[in-house]
Amino acid sequence: MEQYVLRLACADGKAAKIFFRWLEQHFGPNCYPDTLTNLGTDGVLAFGDLEVKARMRDRAQQLIFGHEITNVFVEGHGDCLGNQVESDTHRQHVLQACNVVEGWKLKTKAGRPVNVIGVYVSKRREAVEVLCGHLASAATAAD
Ligand SMILES: [Zn+2]
Repeated sequence: MEQYVLRLACADGKAAKIFFRWLEQHFGPNCYPDTLTNLGTDGVLAFGDLEVKARMRDRAQQLIFGHEITNVFVEGHGDCLGNQVESDTHRQHVLQACNVVEGWKLKTKAGRPVNVIGVYVSKRREAVEVLCGHLASAATAAD
């Protein structure tokens, strides 16, 4: 079964490969990640300008409807060009960013709230840490 998820991620590609690998382990080979980016998206969502955030929200909702998305990932990573802070601060920014995205009240095509999942990839790119939210299984995600 084909499935899409949405990543609100950094334009910096450092974390992408490990995240894609992790995604495949959890959602299988037929999971396609749509991606909206900024430089340092966790920081932009946590503190950025309202217009930029509103544009992201609108594009997110469009992708969620269009691809019947249930899972929305907010991704932060270490050694980030766009948000140059220490790891623990990054983790805080991811959590704050998730609160902002929760506040958008994004809805699945079936009218349910989306799952917002905060993830962090450390500087050494060894693992994907889930900071908040829960993964809906592929079956649940089908809505
Ligand atoms: Zn980055």
